[in-house]
Amino acid sequence: MIRIAIDGPGGAGKSTIAKLVGDKLGLEYIDTGAMYRAVGLKLNRERIKPDDLLSISNILEETSIDFANGKIILDGDDVSDIIRTQEISKLASIYSQIPEVRSKLVDIQRKIAAGKSVIMDGRDIGTNVLTDAELKIFLTADSMVRARRRYEELRSKGVKANLDDIHEEIKDRDYQDMNRKLNPLVQAEDAVMLDTSDMTIDEVVNTIVAMAARVSCN
Ligand code: C5P
Repeated sequence: MIRIAIDGPGGAGKSTIAKLVGDKLGLEYIDTGAMYRAVGLKLNRERIKPDDLLSISNILEETSIDFANGKIILDGDDVSDIIRTQEISKLASIYSQIPEVRSKLVDIQRKIAAGKSVIMDGRDIGTNVLTDAELKIFLTADSMVRARRRYEELRSKGVKANLDDIHEEIKDRDYQDMNRKLNPLVQAEDAVMLDTSDMTIDEVVNTIVAMAARVSCN
């Protein structure tokens, strides 16, 4: 059994890389950012403010979130596509600071990963969710490189975008994710850092697959 934890800032390529490594190694891929996005979507739809902790607790109790076959399922509906907007990125970053939200999602994440080989990506996987993962990677890249990647991704989908706005949004989210009180984004002591600024997707995937092979041999 191997559990691979991939953490890092937004736009570092975590999901793309984790999906490809998961496919190559036959591991279930779990995108924890999608779960925080789904919660952001629901709380925003219900017009619950981030400081209304009682309502947040109540709503969370009756909310079901699952990640199955690469799809994020919120209360039985597939919301995989509609959570990919800049607005939902911001909401996810705000609501993910709330302890009730984190404890509910971390619980679900640990249950999904229990007893099987997985590759899970997020911000606190190596430091909190799967502290005993066999392989931990901290994937990062220069903020301007990350902004440019997102900009090109949006443009390729025909979405109008502004590079400077995206860069600002990425830096704001980095700040929020790294400076929140609870489980902030930090590199786990036993994680390997991979700066992908000058690497191709294939190079990153092959590097991680080689690391996983070494871990499996030990
Ligand atoms: O990875 P993604 O950009 O989809 O994550 C959206 C937001 O969810 C992040 O900016 C972060 O605030 C939050 N998140 C988190 N912990 C995780 C995964 C995501 O706090 N494990």
